Amino acid sequence: METLDAAGRDSAATYVSELVWREFYMQVLWNFPAVLEEEFNVKYRGMVWPGKTANFQRWCDGQTGFPIVDAAMRELRETGFMHNRTRMIAAMFLTKDLHLDWRMGEMWFMQTLADGEIASNNGGWQWSAGTGADAAPYFRIQNPWSQTKRFDPDGTYIKTWVPELRNVDASKFMDPPAPGMRLAPGYPSPIVDHSVARDITLDLFKSAAVQ
Ligand SMILES: Cc1cc2nc3c(=O)[nH]c(=O)nc-3n(C[C@H](O)[C@H](O)[C@H](O)COP(=O)(O)OP(=O)(O)OC[C@H]3O[C@@H](n4cnc5c(N)ncnc54)[C@H](O)[C@@H]3O)c2cc1C
Repeated sequence: METLDAAGRDSAATYVSELVWREFYMQVLWNFPAVLEEEFNVKYRGMVWPGKTANFQRWCDGQTGFPIVDAAMRELRETGFMHNRTRMIAAMFLTKDLHLDWRMGEMWFMQTLADGEIASNNGGWQWSAGTGADAAPYFRIQNPWSQTKRFDPDGTYIKTWVPELRNVDASKFMDPPAPGMRLAPGYPSPIVDHSVARDITLDLFKSAAVQ
């Protein structure tokens, strides 16, 4: 570290912090093996995920009508890889927009990820779902449209993996189209309204916590 310049030290520190996450999830799995079956957080153990199961296959296939989610899921299907940021976006979308059980997504990631690893995968899914150890609080619900603004402002990532959107102006990826409208021919309109889905999630967790 001493021989590194400031930028080098920063990236080394980031790398070490990522390895710490890996070790943390290893410790969680070693000490609480039940996390493979149930929510780590007892408050949410056994909570109901009332989402439409038909939406699961559309999520796997990258056909949700949310460009950043569809790009991520298609990259995964075609390469077996996905960056950590899009793993969080796709996982939060499945649980907090489609209200589908995190275990379904966890299984799909283990079947498709080239670096699939049970401790980090379970930890990543329970973090995203809001049910894990040191998880993102349930009310932290990423908005896929604003995530696109931050992490793919010129739409390069989306246009790489979603060919139907290649000729669409990237500014159109930052907000939902008008209800029932499509961003491009052959590309689905959004399967949920994020703001409505968000309110349902807040109620789901509030009622689960008082069970
Ligand atoms: C829903 C979800 C599922 C995930 N599933 C897996 C999985 O199956 N296997 C897996 O190795 N990681 C998983 N992660 C963690 C992380 O996304 C990947 O480790 C990272 O994206 C791999 O890319 P990289 O090798 O370029 O990582 P780098 O950014 O180069 O990090 C280096 C190493 O640090 C470790 N690491 C980095 N970030 C994390 C993290 N958040 N949690 C645990 N370890 C981390 C990994 O071993 C990684 O190879 C998941 C994250 C989420 C949100």
